[in-house]
Amino acid sequence: MALVSCPACDHRVSETAVACPSCGHPGAGGRHGVIPTLGRVAGTYVSANAFSELVLGSVMFVCVAAVLITLILAGR
Ligand SMILES: [Zn+2]
Repeated sequence: MALVSCPACDHRVSETAVACPSCGHPGAGGRHGVIPTLGRVAGTYVSANAFSELVLGSVMFVCVAAVLITLILAGR
């Protein structure tokens, strides 16, 4: 189990630690800590969710436009 330096207080912290036991700095375990991983997963999920909403919105808009065009063309 390797030790890394806490970015806040320079205390030696296990790289698997969620927070620094000396100052409580979150993600003290460095780049491979639990909190950065969770943040990356959450960021990926949020952006993927926003992207799917954007695609869904575009598809809905095209469907509504197609129905409106059909109604306008059928009405005359
Ligand atoms: Zn610390």
